[in-house]
Amino acid sequence: MSRGDIRLEGLVKRYGDVLAVDGIDLHVPPGEFFTMLGPSGCGKTTTLRMIAGFERPDEGEILLDGSDMSNTPPHKRDVNTVFQSYALFTHMTVEENVAFGLRYRKVSKSEVASRVKKVMEMVQIGELGQRRPSELSGGQQQRVALARALVLEAPVLLLDEPLGALDARLRLDLQVELKRIQEQLEVSFIYVTHDQDEALTMSDRVAVMKGGRIEQCDAPQKLYEEPDTAFVANFLGSANLLSVTARASGAGCELSLGNFTLKSDSAPEQAGVGTAMIRPEYVKLEPQGSDAENRIPGMVEEVVYMGFHQDVRVRLANGDLIRADVPSDGEGEEYEQGNAVSVYLRAANLRVLDDEPSGEPEPADGQPADQQS
Ligand code: ADP
Ligand code: MG
Repeated sequence: MSRGDIRLEGLVKRYGDVLAVDGIDLHVPPGEFFTMLGPSGCGKTTTLRMIAGFERPDEGEILLDGSDMSNTPPHKRDVNTVFQSYALFTHMTVEENVAFGLRYRKVSKSEVASRVKKVMEMVQIGELGQRRPSELSGGQQQRVALARALVLEAPVLLLDEPLGALDARLRLDLQVELKRIQEQLEVSFIYVTHDQDEALTMSDRVAVMKGGRIEQCDAPQKLYEEPDTAFVANFLGSANLLSVTARASGAGCELSLGNFTLKSDSAPEQAGVGTAMIRPEYVKLEPQGSDAENRIPGMVEEVVYMGFHQDVRVRLANGDLIRADVPSDGEGEEYEQGNAVSVYLRAANLRVLDDEPSGEPEPADGQPADQQS
């Protein structure tokens, strides 16, 4: 087996009454950029700390390259961690910081020097070796923290919101760079973030977490295009959610939305009352009067100008409010309040979610279908 294979099986961690991690199973193969994405408090850091060995699981196993790690102390595990707070040694130079972890290993002076030099060049701090952390910007300090972890050459790197303290522009630069470094070194990255863009840009696969559990784990595009639940749909981008009744039909299904019938290519786990989802960019507005398949008449209620696109909010004839993301490329229609339109919800883009019906009554007429603020 090549190195850097991580497997979590039935991992549980409690702090008193708080169930921080509630049964996590996952497998990260060697060389994968794997991200745990979720809101604050969903158990990301706790999971990472258990992999690193700083916390003991109450239940479950952590396997590194097939071996159970339960009795292996943190410094003996073949993983390194980069935290959000850089925790650099302020009295040491950059070079000394990067070399620090090699001090206690049986590595010759010349090898230390060459490894430190190589890794500093890789993260583009080659010129900064003699400075102290206080003489560096936030982005530079995080590069030092990264170099300090990478120089140890573990096959697994754990990163806990490493770009969280940096401003937006710098984060974008470092995202691209982290991905490049990870590909170059073929190290497994387990990356924690609450930022959906960060997760989508860098990762081979993303686990979306909620309440100590993995809600869905897939490649970024699949998560975005085919979310299983309303939580995932809303956490990654924006989503129109519609209360429907589904019944199987051919390879897909047929949905009742009020008195209207829509076709969907998705095959729901079960028929009955449920939620259908369509992304605003897939909602197409057509001139009033089209009665072709999957069209619903509606009235434009509000248009929000967003620069290169418009957010057009349309009240459907069944009472639901739906958002259409319309490009403002100068070629398409311009919409304004009161326009009568026909709303096309394409079967291929209309997805029935797996959420259990909540048991609450369906929204009354006139209530927005979109629950996002
Ligand atoms: P995340 O990193 O996703 O924001 P955490 O893993 O830090 O979430 O926390 C998960 C849950 O466990 C939260 O409810 C948090 O308050 C709780 N928690 C984390 N660490 C401790 C601790 N040392 N003592 C008590 N509760 C904790
Ligand atoms: Mg955290």
